Amino acid sequence: MTKNIAVIRGDGIGPEIVAEALKVLDKVGEIFGHTFNYTDVDMGGCAIDKYGDPLPESELQKCLKSDSVLLGAVGGEKWNNVPGDKRPEKGLLRLRAGMGVYSNNRPAKIWKQLSDASPLRKEIVEKGIDFIIVRELIGGIYFGEHKTVDDTATDVLSYSESEIERIGRIGFETARKRNKKLCSVEKSNVLDSSRLWKKVMHRLAEEYTDVELSDMLVDNCAMQIVKNPAQFDVIVTENMFGDILSDEASMITGSIGMIPSSSLGATSCGLYEPIHGSAPDIAGKNIANPIGTILSAAMMLRYSFDMGKEADAIENAVSAFLDADLRTADIMSEGKTQVGCSECGEFIAKNLKRE
Ligand code: NAD
Repeated sequence: MTKNIAVIRGDGIGPEIVAEALKVLDKVGEIFGHTFNYTDVDMGGCAIDKYGDPLPESELQKCLKSDSVLLGAVGGEKWNNVPGDKRPEKGLLRLRAGMGVYSNNRPAKIWKQLSDASPLRKEIVEKGIDFIIVRELIGGIYFGEHKTVDDTATDVLSYSESEIERIGRIGFETARKRNKKLCSVEKSNVLDSSRLWKKVMHRLAEEYTDVELSDMLVDNCAMQIVKNPAQFDVIVTENMFGDILSDEASMITGSIGMIPSSSLGATSCGLYEPIHGSAPDIAGKNIANPIGTILSAAMMLRYSFDMGKEADAIENAVSAFLDADLRTADIMSEGKTQVGCSECGEFIAKNLKRE
């Protein structure tokens, strides 16, 4: 298979971590017989320096013509004082809008080798934590009307059936590619929008008979994520609930440097990026952890290119890195050997195997 990938290296540690993900993708191509073509795209601070714009139309078009987009991170102090509409983050918002992505998907996974890094008790972690939160990204209360009249402020939360259906389908499709369990999270005991949410999810379940659907109230879900996270495979929820739950879920896994994400819309062209920022404090020192970006590339293979075996191979090579007691600085602990960003990427690429 040949796939064209738009590559946004961005700012800070972005270029370093993306370089390692490309090493790993190249190795996947070599052993599984695929060709990955890369097109460099300038976005963020580097694009402001070059064009005076965080994402010029020509750069956006390169992304839209690709099969998927891999992003490092953007932003940094240098651009903190540029006007609001020219800030690096504006590039990211324009990219998301241009790609029409309406779901953000974040895995919460604890690697058994890093279980000590979790703030949860050992016996909870030992049951295994490996789930994804699929969050609706462009609707709900963040996008409803906001107004303040006299001493009263109002924010409107509304969802249409079609908005719920399209995110619901991403939830079901994601579950299909995993362990076929989908938990729909809402507040249907109080909110009309949640009752509609629940109704649409159950209508969709009749189509996805291979996926087991369950319902959970959001307050209970917040508790269950710390009490018994092993019960979850895929959680699908609306924008604000997902915002809060996905931050909670990333905390229980330990290191911010290890977590990938995807943003998907109606087409298979997705945006894949680690959840962390451009970490200017450690940029250029070869100490960043590239695993969040490498795992983002693995998600791209699984969810946009239908290359499940190739994604498994990357995840197994990450596990081999941790099994070898090698660690980047952010996940370093006693008795382990510290390696740099490039050594980490090289090890993972070298240890990729076709099962
Ligand atoms: P950050 O995620 O960049 O860094 C927070 C802390 O985590 C820092 O101490 C950093 O060194 C560490 N860290 C982050 N990623 C790491 C990695 N891969 N390996 C090791 N350590 C890592 O958050 P911040 O400091 O709040 O933001 C820095 C810049 O990034 C800001 O300009 C912000 O606007 C931008 N940002 C960009 C994105 C994005 O591009 N999607 C997301 C968040 C923040």
